[in-house]
Amino acid sequence: MVCDSTTVNLFKLLHVAVRARPGRPVILAEKDDFPTDRFLVAEVAEQAGCEVRWAAPDEWRGRTLDDVAVGVLSHVHYRTGLVHDMPAITRRLHDAGALALWDLSHSVGAVPVELDACGVDLAVGCTYKFLCGGPGAPAFAMVARQLQAAARTPVPGWLGHAAPFAFAPDYRPAPGVGWLVTGTPSITAHASLECALEIFDTVDLPAARRKAIALGEIFLTTVEHELPGMFTLHSPRDAEARGNHVSLGHPDGFAIVQALIARGVVGDFRAPDVLRFGFAPLYLSHADAFDAAMALVEVMRTDQWRDGRFAVRGVVT
Ligand SMILES: *Cc1c(COP(=O)(O)O)cnc(C)c1O
Repeated sequence: MVCDSTTVNLFKLLHVAVRARPGRPVILAEKDDFPTDRFLVAEVAEQAGCEVRWAAPDEWRGRTLDDVAVGVLSHVHYRTGLVHDMPAITRRLHDAGALALWDLSHSVGAVPVELDACGVDLAVGCTYKFLCGGPGAPAFAMVARQLQAAARTPVPGWLGHAAPFAFAPDYRPAPGVGWLVTGTPSITAHASLECALEIFDTVDLPAARRKAIALGEIFLTTVEHELPGMFTLHSPRDAEARGNHVSLGHPDGFAIVQALIARGVVGDFRAPDVLRFGFAPLYLSHADAFDAAMALVEVMRTDQWRDGRFAVRGVVT
């Protein structure tokens, strides 16, 4: 269902998950995950009388998950680009009787995702990153069929009612995933997303992924070659293990990114020191990736980033 924001959808699905696993008091989440995910996990745990266990999948080894209602993870990490092993992690949760809730914000339209093949229970994600849905495009939520009928939403809005225009006295959820809708959607934002999805209907996703990997490799090998030792690498060096973005580390990352933006190379900065470059394969060329790397090389060699105007921080970084 396409509706609301990722944040709102995650709130809904976390409640659905803990209600679907009564008697299991733990939500399992990664303490380094995207802020929205961490904040909501903590809040929903409190609302539902659960506790949060902050542990990354490599810390689950040898530990029992028998008290876990749901494990929540970003498939591709927003800061590092690390791709989690969705099949293995989902299996591990299922073996313990827990549900798997994946945030696909940096995966959808970038990395092939097989939700049904992995038996994923719940998923959310945004459509304005690699899916190119446009600024403010709505998010999506996925609830596996076997959970749909018994699910109870914490946001029972009028438009998710089984008969919204009956204006009935009591809430009755719409069938399937219709109840995920809360209120009136932004029709203009949906229209813009629809344009992007029409293009994606024609895209061979594995081919797009191969191109994105090539773009990332051109960028990274050029930077490594021209500026050896200048940046740390926050992303996995193995392209298969990272999503479609490359994250470099530098203490002056903010000013460096601003200097690049002034030259038309739009990356972003994530505290404390991450320069993040997304390689959207549908509209970036191999030459663009090389030019972006050479722009970075010039910004560093000429110390352009030291210009005082690049140190001024706005709300968006
Ligand atoms: C971008 C992103 C979001 C965005 O949430 P919104 O509610 O759409 O602003 C959520 N989770 C992750 C992991 C993200 O990368």
